[in-house]
Amino acid sequence: MDLAQLQPGLRTRLLKLGISRAFDLVLHLPMRYEDETQLYPIAEAPVGTAALVEGEVTGCETTFRPKKQLVARVRDASGTLVVRLIHFYPNQAQQLAVGKRVRLYGEIRHGFWGDEMVHPKVKTLSDSDTLNDSLTPIYPTTANLSQAQLARLIAKALKDEPLTDTLPAAVRHDFGFPDFAESVRFLHNPPPDVARVQLTERIHPTWRRIKFDELLAQQLSLRMARAIRRERTAPVIAPPGRLAAQLVASLPFGLTKAQNRVLLDISKDLGQRHPMQRLLQGDVGAGKTIVAAIAACHAIEAGYQVAMLAPTEILAEQHYAKFVQWLEPLGVKVAWLTGSLKARAKREALEDAALGSAQMVVGTHAIFQGTVEFKNLGLAIVDEQHRFGVAQRLALREKGGSPHQLMMSATPIPRTLAMSFYADLDVSVIDELPPGRTPIVTKLVSDARRDEIIERIASKVLEGRQVYWVCPLIEESEALQLQTAVDTHAQLTEELEGIAIGLVHGKMKPAEKAAMMDAFKRNEIQVLVATTVIEVGVDVPNASLMVIEHAERMGLAQLHQLRGRVGRGAHASLCILLYTGPLGETAKARLKVIYESTDGFEIARQDLQIRGPGELAGVRQSGVPMLRFADLEKDADLLDAARDVAENILATEPQLAIPHLDRWLPGREALLRV
Ligand code: ADP
Ligand code: MG
Repeated sequence: MDLAQLQPGLRTRLLKLGISRAFDLVLHLPMRYEDETQLYPIAEAPVGTAALVEGEVTGCETTFRPKKQLVARVRDASGTLVVRLIHFYPNQAQQLAVGKRVRLYGEIRHGFWGDEMVHPKVKTLSDSDTLNDSLTPIYPTTANLSQAQLARLIAKALKDEPLTDTLPAAVRHDFGFPDFAESVRFLHNPPPDVARVQLTERIHPTWRRIKFDELLAQQLSLRMARAIRRERTAPVIAPPGRLAAQLVASLPFGLTKAQNRVLLDISKDLGQRHPMQRLLQGDVGAGKTIVAAIAACHAIEAGYQVAMLAPTEILAEQHYAKFVQWLEPLGVKVAWLTGSLKARAKREALEDAALGSAQMVVGTHAIFQGTVEFKNLGLAIVDEQHRFGVAQRLALREKGGSPHQLMMSATPIPRTLAMSFYADLDVSVIDELPPGRTPIVTKLVSDARRDEIIERIASKVLEGRQVYWVCPLIEESEALQLQTAVDTHAQLTEELEGIAIGLVHGKMKPAEKAAMMDAFKRNEIQVLVATTVIEVGVDVPNASLMVIEHAERMGLAQLHQLRGRVGRGAHASLCILLYTGPLGETAKARLKVIYESTDGFEIARQDLQIRGPGELAGVRQSGVPMLRFADLEKDADLLDAARDVAENILATEPQLAIPHLDRWLPGREALLRV
């Protein structure tokens, strides 16, 4: 089957689902199943789970209270059931006309008027209707693509596509995995007698086989990428370390043990002939920036240039200020390059980079777009790497041969997972905060108590402290989010007379944003109302109170990042999470995690449990192949196994990797070049 021959609209819809080749249909596995293999008498249908019943319609009417709905009555020999459709089309009313015989699939509930089904699947019965003999797969789909259409296409792909095994027989045997063909056929059409929990929990041997395949492909591709990278040469950077020593001596603090340990990892890497690709993980406030600066000193002392990329202008500017403060006294010229620079300043910065007169260039990803050239780039540092995509990592590489790369992230995934999952990166962790930090106290407060919060702010400001007020994330509409921020700013200005209140949001010009941040840093503004633009990296030690509105809407990683903006100075800090009740179960569980823990790694672990790794902040954008089926936490054993098998295949029979990768990760060539 050739998808190119399908009607264009259908092809577009399939593409939305990530289906671009016929084989992708084979891998488009059901997210759940419905069981229409067994018919129950109405009186005996199980409660709390969907079931199939049939009978004759004995009543049907449209009622208008409490709102418009269709209410029908269906009877079989054992009992009667109320069917309720709150949204319905005229043809559904016809289907449920008195006297019709129907088959209903849905969950029975005990309602006030007796047993009822709300919005069941309704099918008009004819005499020839038999029951299904396998479970009905329900596929992830998109608008205007019906389950039936998808199922037909998938059935055809299962017939036409080669389902040969790409796992070596020995591996299948060792792990007791079923064949590939058997596995996909089973998962698309499981027989009715399979234990449901094995399907819903995805622990059936066929599911495990598929997840293993997926993880193996991921491990193979990352390992191959790594091998390719090791073929490239990078400058050997192993200076005596005088510049770094000077910098350390000039600091008002000593480095933590953890900082020293990761610095050792980094300098070992820099001394190698192939490019470093190290991920430096460290909780918010762990002190990654100084580590970056010391690494930069090594490269600069050895005669190379260093680039540092930040995801936002605010953060880039802060880094710039820090690096100027730290490095210029040592005779290092630091240049500053962002998209918003005036033409002349930009030209100068570009020249400094190209001629090598600036040893260090700090900026946003604008650095790596367009015309920037370096004289001899030796080290590229990427802060908050999860904010950058593959394309930017690629661009980075093209700018200067193969510089060493140091990527930093405060959105940690647990270390063992990181090591397996980012198989192409080396991972270092700063697992210790600098001493003398006062822990941040977190409070959950219902927004009904907003007045108390306002008083709290006033008294903090009287004490000389500063405050962040973070406005809710409104994903559906940036305009709405902006409006909320503007309203909040106006309201606080009114409520907190005599206190200078600033506003910073994503729609402001970079220069305006920077000016506002500067004013806040200089304490000319005491309360800063912000949208989530301050999420990453902002460092104002005097800010010791943060209020986060609608905390229930935010992700855990994001809340943790935000909270990390306070607790940076010597003052006791407080983070107030305002929520609007009533809270759902997930929201409750999430807020509980953030309330109970201030450890980013622990939060990430819990996040993983509540949301699953596919959702984990950072992974999606990081360019690491997404996992559709495997769950890093639940399938940790499979991940371990896949790692070992990948290593083995590449060492002994690397040709076996190709068909497997073609099947699972077609078009991943770009990634291999990163
Ligand atoms: P992050 O890891 O979140 O990027 P930063 O690098 O911004 O954290 O560091 C947070 C603050 O801690 C900065 O003000 C920094 O100067 C300070 N800092 C870093 N290392 C130490 C240390 N060893 N002792 C004391 N303060 C430190
Ligand atoms: Mg940082």
